[in-house]
Amino acid sequence: MSTELCSSCGSCGFPMRSAEDHAGGDPQCGYCSTCADPSGTLRPYEDVVEANADYFVREQGIALTAAREMARALLDSMPAWKARP
Ligand SMILES: [Zn+2]
Repeated sequence: MSTELCSSCGSCGFPMRSAEDHAGGDPQCGYCSTCADPSGTLRPYEDVVEANADYFVREQGIALTAAREMARALLDSMPAWKARP
């Protein structure tokens, strides 16, 4: 396994273990397929919050409102969103 393939998403921290986990299937992209579009461009903040909230609802079975708060707290701690006003 190369180092490129075991990086984590700069937006949500998701561990990207295979090329398909990266946006556009590109191992060079620093964001996961949830946070960026297929060209590797980071999606708008609110879209990423929704996508991650949906993931928490699916994976952890928690309510959407709680999942949104978790997603915001998570994103606010990540490098990709540090510069957000
Ligand atoms: Zn991500």
